Amino acid sequence: MGYVDEVIEMVQTKNANEPEFLQAVKEVLESLRPVVDANEALYRREAILERLVEPDRCIKFRVPWVDDKGNVQVNIGYRVQFNNSIGPYKGGLRLHPSVNLGIIKFLGFEQIFKNSLTSLPIGGGKGGSDFDPKGKSDREVMAFCKSFITELYKYIGADTDVPAGDIGTGAREIGYMFGQYKRLTDLYEGVLTGKGLSYGGSLARTEATGYGLLYFTNEMLKCNNIDIAGKTVVVSGAGNVAIYAIQKAQQLGAKVVTCSDSTGWIYDPDGIDVALLKEVKEVKRARLTEYKAARPNAEYHEGKGVWTVKCDIALPCATQNELLLDDAKALVANGVIAVAEGANMPTSLEATEYLQKNGVLFAPGKASNAGGVATSALEMSQNSERLSWSFEEVDSKLQGIMVNIFHNLDDAAKKYGFEGNYVVGANIAGFEKVVNAMLAQGV
Ligand code: NDP
Repeated sequence: MGYVDEVIEMVQTKNANEPEFLQAVKEVLESLRPVVDANEALYRREAILERLVEPDRCIKFRVPWVDDKGNVQVNIGYRVQFNNSIGPYKGGLRLHPSVNLGIIKFLGFEQIFKNSLTSLPIGGGKGGSDFDPKGKSDREVMAFCKSFITELYKYIGADTDVPAGDIGTGAREIGYMFGQYKRLTDLYEGVLTGKGLSYGGSLARTEATGYGLLYFTNEMLKCNNIDIAGKTVVVSGAGNVAIYAIQKAQQLGAKVVTCSDSTGWIYDPDGIDVALLKEVKEVKRARLTEYKAARPNAEYHEGKGVWTVKCDIALPCATQNELLLDDAKALVANGVIAVAEGANMPTSLEATEYLQKNGVLFAPGKASNAGGVATSALEMSQNSERLSWSFEEVDSKLQGIMVNIFHNLDDAAKKYGFEGNYVVGANIAGFEKVVNAMLAQGV
């Protein structure tokens, strides 16, 4: 049995109840075969793959808080510090009822390679809780966030581990967490990113993941002689990533006709009205039925369905495993040209393979959604030098980073004989830098 297969089998045995983590490990290790085979003796001796799939540490803790009725609620908090070979741990905090250790490990593992691809000095980590901010009052969200940080603050810091937002964690939650960190430590430092602009946040961080997704997609299309202008785009999700992906796609001249949330989806033949979507989701925190109510031409459907809409480009921007084999078949049957992941691992392995086999340009999230974490790293730089850069400056750096990521992974794919396979390219390009740092630093 080859080294890659041995390690996948070991991960399967040791983490049998963590399917998402196993899925992420399999996807990455399988695509690393060319580089692992070429260096097998060294990597085996140094146990590179075994070290890569085992986090530096997993922190799990109780988060007690008091609800508006005076009852005590208990949630579970997690922080997985996966790998800090190239910089302090960096990755978001997910607040969603589905959160468990396996999901945080999959996200932390992916984050190692994503962060490496940005070419910035940041290691991989991720955290979160099974707390659901939906339907909670501001006071309840604050009570949770303060309790969460009261435990987590011991393990994070501007030079050790810098958490950020993710599903369910936006500027409001980061603000409460930063306030509690400061109170406990007396330190005004860049320990969290995604902060508000008045207390150390970076301009363009809110837009960064969605905008970055489009900068990457545009470059990928350009290099394949395709113009994004005039193309029809379907997007899933209606959160931070989806909203700004829709906005940038429209600015680049494409027409976006769908978005979705956890209960249903919108088809708007006139193109999604971003201002209205922001009002519904960012201000009112309401359901997409409110979008439909304000746009008589739009359709609202319960459940899943955006991938059945005819399009040229599909951008999954909601959550993991939301684009499955049948969805990929529907997209291909409708003539899709490109699929670029805004979310983390939204496309299942089978769906990815099907898309690639059918000639669809496929951009893996660890590359195409790296704009968020890249801009978080720019926020860290601004915090360190106690300066704030203009929107244009951050946005232009983001654009440069995304274009650079595309070319790095395109080159890596070509170097190992996998031209056009951006999954292989992203994994190899992200992996090589981390492994070189691990080898240099010893055991
Ligand atoms: P948000 O919480 O802002 O938005 C998530 C959106 O997806 C919401 O519309 C939500 O619906 C929907 N959604 C969440 N879970 C499910 C589910 N199980 N089924 C169907 N729909 C669901 O999160 P973000 O936009 O920040 O994150 C989206 C994805 O992008 C995640 O995979 C995240 O890890 C990834 N990502 C985010 C980055 C960032 O900077 N924010 C950076 C890189 C990756 P509803 O409105 O009903 O809650």
